[in-house]
Amino acid sequence: MTELLSSYASGQWQSGNGSGTSLYDPVRGTELVRVDAAGLDLAAAFAFARHSGGAALRALTYAQRAALLGAASKVLQANRDAYYEISTANSGTVKNDTAVDVDGGFYTLSTYAKIGESLGNSHYLHDGEPTRLGKDPLFQSQHVLTPTRGVALLINAFNFPSWGMWEKAAPALLSGVPVIVKPATTTAWLTQRMVKDVVDAGIFPAGAISVICGSSAGLMDQLEPFDVVSFTGSADTAAIIRSHPAVTKISVRVNIEADSVNSALLLPNEALGSEAIDLLVKEVAREMTVKSGQKCTAIRRVLVPEHLYDSVAQALSARLAKTTVGDPRNENVRMGAIVNRAQFNAVRDGLSYLKAQAEVLHDGSTHALAVDDAAIACCVGPTLLGTTDANGSDIADRVHNTEVFGPVATLVPYRNNDLSHALQLIRRGQGSLVASVYGSDPVALGEAIPELTDSHGRVHVISPDVGAIHSGHGNVMPQSVHGGPGRAGGGEELGGLRALNFYHRRAAVQASTAVLTQLK
Ligand code: NAP
Repeated sequence: MTELLSSYASGQWQSGNGSGTSLYDPVRGTELVRVDAAGLDLAAAFAFARHSGGAALRALTYAQRAALLGAASKVLQANRDAYYEISTANSGTVKNDTAVDVDGGFYTLSTYAKIGESLGNSHYLHDGEPTRLGKDPLFQSQHVLTPTRGVALLINAFNFPSWGMWEKAAPALLSGVPVIVKPATTTAWLTQRMVKDVVDAGIFPAGAISVICGSSAGLMDQLEPFDVVSFTGSADTAAIIRSHPAVTKISVRVNIEADSVNSALLLPNEALGSEAIDLLVKEVAREMTVKSGQKCTAIRRVLVPEHLYDSVAQALSARLAKTTVGDPRNENVRMGAIVNRAQFNAVRDGLSYLKAQAEVLHDGSTHALAVDDAAIACCVGPTLLGTTDANGSDIADRVHNTEVFGPVATLVPYRNNDLSHALQLIRRGQGSLVASVYGSDPVALGEAIPELTDSHGRVHVISPDVGAIHSGHGNVMPQSVHGGPGRAGGGEELGGLRALNFYHRRAAVQASTAVLTQLK
């Protein structure tokens, strides 16, 4: 029997009383560890976090809590090798892809440690300046932001067991709000190990951080009015969370990050051979293959003028053909596995669904797999589809509303010299996390931006001058907002100090100027 990972709740490591759910190596098929949350006293765990953890965190200042984040980041960095091993085994990722998750988590944590310092020794925040309420300036209104007196339930998707936890936990803990982390079962091991290292190092006060490994059953039922839920995962699970009585009846605040059919757009008037086209091709190929396309921000639709369809298809296919796929332990492998058999099957089914409305420009199934047993390994090569012409792009509704969570993208030609057609096709994604735009003319790029910012959480604009230094279409930077309207979930995370808003309550204080000056 493999190890049964314990959960950390009520300030103690505890095991569930069931036989557990197994976690597997997606390349070799071996069982790694098990998780089980059956029988855990969730009510006690939430009460302990809410009362003991919350009180201890709120007693600290922002700067003190920022220092704790910095200390946690150092502890995690010291254990980096162990996280890489777990990630290789459980997520099937090559080193560069592990870095996106593991080092991305460190970076986010240390960024919040730094920006948190700037908030100094206060216990709550001012929101704006005092505003007079009548003719007499003596009686004014000042808004303040106070840490919510509850717990933050952080529910994460399988694809970012490290970054996904820390991008939520860092702003929550900096705000003074205790966290209960629920990792996705498939990849819970890395999250559990990181929490264990931080707990063992005794950095945070008791109750500040807990982790529940196993089923999500009963978690939402524990929530009380001042608690918050931050969820990342599928639209289907998001709908269950949104309709839970905790949200509908007692107004538990909820943030949803869901799936998204993100776009990359090449502006009209780029001549064949232009640097902007090269930059687009490079980035699309990278986005399709990083983490085997299992990124919520990955490029799914590539919009190019119709006359460039064939040449961009060829350039992309040539790049994708060079991707070696297989066991991440093999030094020659550039792209690892899909996380498990169920996701592998979902990618295969999703591809068949899209293929009914698109042609295959590069077929991932032709890639030789560098694995011991191709029948066991959840590996698949990158596939580029295409809607053939502008009319096909209009007809192919599946391409605009289906996220295939794997190394799959579709080339979507728009009518030559008709940017409005491209924008109309992009909007059929019904709100996305990110769009990237490629072009050489700053004026044309500047005009396109406000056409995209209404339906995207982030717009990543690439002109040749930033070609070598940009942060990447799919990389979520803690300085920039992450989230998107509509089908992307309507959520908003990160964005520097903006992230703290979710974990604070805004109140208007109406008082005399003399009293307001007492608010520190
Ligand atoms: P999922 O199946 O929806 O699961 C997400 C999380 O919700 C897991 O921790 C899961 O636990 C938990 N969960 C399941 N049922 C629940 C319930 N009834 N109540 C509370 N929690 C519940 O999603 P996934 O397959 O892990 O992730 C893939 C999806 O996430 C993709 O669609 C991707 O686009 C999206 N994603 C979005 C972002 C973003 O930032 N927008 C980032 C990454 C991924 P169990 O694993 O134990 O079932």
